[in-house]
Amino acid sequence: MAELFDELQEQCDEFEFEKILQEKFDSYNREFFDGKIAKQDKLLEQPKVWTWSASYNFESHRIKIHPELITGSHYSINPEAPIKGIELYIFDSLLHEMIHKYCVEVLDVKENDGHGPEFEKKCYEIAETLMLEIIDEKDIECFPLNSRPKYYYMGAWRTQIARMVGSRSWASLTFPDKTYPKQLGS
Ligand SMILES: [Zn+2]
Repeated sequence: MAELFDELQEQCDEFEFEKILQEKFDSYNREFFDGKIAKQDKLLEQPKVWTWSASYNFESHRIKIHPELITGSHYSINPEAPIKGIELYIFDSLLHEMIHKYCVEVLDVKENDGHGPEFEKKCYEIAETLMLEIIDEKDIECFPLNSRPKYYYMGAWRTQIARMVGSRSWASLTFPDKTYPKQLGS
């Protein structure tokens, strides 16, 4: 485990990974949003609540991707998983937040909890392109994470592991390093 993450840290420090994320942002923007989403200078920032791996703020219009994801120290990540799987999880988290950004800033829609009809519509559109299946509301709230095949994240996303053992909730898993739930002040 330690070796994997030393490797990840060496190859991809925050600065490098910020560049990778920016490139991914651009390619998703072209592929799924007709390039209409405005660029954001920095994506790697800690969301308001540490348990969130990523967030989109409806007021500041900023996407935040938790920097702990890249070091594997975030609770949602299984540090034993291959780096590639962790990366795929981060990219999907980015895509989810970009759908929020698109709805608010491009479509000018402010939906109740952010996962309303326009958000859903965009998810279905992207799901069709990626050939992913959306089964229920829970899949929309987490899109595209819940819709990926079983081993897509190579065990990196702990929620998916929980689902594989028959529970839809990651809360049933134990996290030796951190206590859940613990929220940072707003
Ligand atoms: Zn969301």
